[in-house]
Amino acid sequence: MSTSGVDTVCVIGTGLIGGSLALALKRAGFCRQIIGAGRTEQTLIRAVELGVIDSYDTQIANAVVGADIVVVCVPLGAMHAAFEQINAGKDQDIVVTDAGSAKQSVIRDAESIFGAGYPNFVPGHPIAGTERSGVGAAFAELYRQRRVILTPTEDTSTAAVDRVRAMWEAAGASVDTMSAEHHDLVLAGTSHLPHLLAFGLVDCLNNLEDIDEIFCFAAGGFRDFTRIASSDPVMWRDICLSNREQVMAMMKRYRDEMEKMYRALEEYDGEKLKEVFERAKRVRDAFCG
Ligand code: NAP
Repeated sequence: MSTSGVDTVCVIGTGLIGGSLALALKRAGFCRQIIGAGRTEQTLIRAVELGVIDSYDTQIANAVVGADIVVVCVPLGAMHAAFEQINAGKDQDIVVTDAGSAKQSVIRDAESIFGAGYPNFVPGHPIAGTERSGVGAAFAELYRQRRVILTPTEDTSTAAVDRVRAMWEAAGASVDTMSAEHHDLVLAGTSHLPHLLAFGLVDCLNNLEDIDEIFCFAAGGFRDFTRIASSDPVMWRDICLSNREQVMAMMKRYRDEMEKMYRALEEYDGEKLKEVFERAKRVRDAFCG
C-alpha cells in the first residue's frame, strides 16, 4: 500500500470539513481526482462549480468504487447510514476514514457495518473548524498547521493509518494518534463543553424577559465567548449525544467550579475569586502565547 499520493479520493459530505480537505488535497497535488458524494445533489453540483470536487455520484455505493481513500465528513448521526452505503460498494482494499468529532460512537458504527477486526477503517478527527458550515464555507487553508487526531483500534492496519496520515499531512496538518477513549475525554473538555456553554449562555440571556434589549449592549467579550453558538445545531446535537457520558462528566466538573465561584460571591470572598482568575489567566496566557 503506497503512503504518498494516491489516484482517487472520495469525499462523502462536501461541507466545511470535507470541502476544505478536498481543496487542500487538490492544491497539494495529493491525488489525481476527487469524487464527491452526499445527501443533496444541489450541494454536489455547487461543489463541482466551486472546484472543490472533480465529479460526483449521488449514490455513495457507486462513488466509492475504485477509490483509494474514502473520507466520511457527514454529521455523526449520519455516519452509520453512510458506512452501510460504503459497504455496499467498497472492495477490501479501500481505506475508509472519517472526520467525526467524537470517536467511540463512530468506531461502534463502523464495527457494526464493516465487522470487528476490519483493518482498513481509520477513525480520525481534524482539530480545525469554524462556526460556518456548508460547501461555500470551505477553504484550502483550514488544516494548515492544525492537528489531526487518529484513533486506530488494535485491528487497524499500520498501512491504512500511514495512508490517512499522508493525506492529512498533504493538507498541511500534523497528525497524532491516541485511543478513542482518551480523545473523547479530552475533546469533551476543550470543544464539546465550550460549545454547550456558548449555546446555553445565549439561550439563557435570550430568555430574560425583563431585559429584552440585552444584546444591544453586548460588546467584544460577548462576541468572542459566543462565536461558536453560531455553529450548526444539528451537528452539535449529534456531537453532544454521541459523546454524552464524557460531556456530562465535564459539565459536572464545570458546575462544581461555578458553585465555588457562587459561594465566593455569597461570602464576599474576593481572595478566592482572584485566586481562580489568576490561575486561569496564567494557563490561558501560556496556551495562547
Ligand atoms: P457541514 O458543513 O454541515 O457539512 C456536512 C456535509 O454532510 C454536507 O455536505 C451535508 O450535505 C452532508 N450531510 C448532512 N447530513 C447528511 C446525511 N444525513 N447523509 C449524508 N450526507 C449528509 O458540516 P462540517 O462542519 O463539514 O462537519 C462534518 C463532520 O466533521 C461532522 O461529523 C463533524 O462532527 C466533523 N467536524 C466538524 C468540525 C467543525 O468545526 N465544523 C471540526 C472537526 C470535525 P447537505 O448539503 O445535504 O446538507
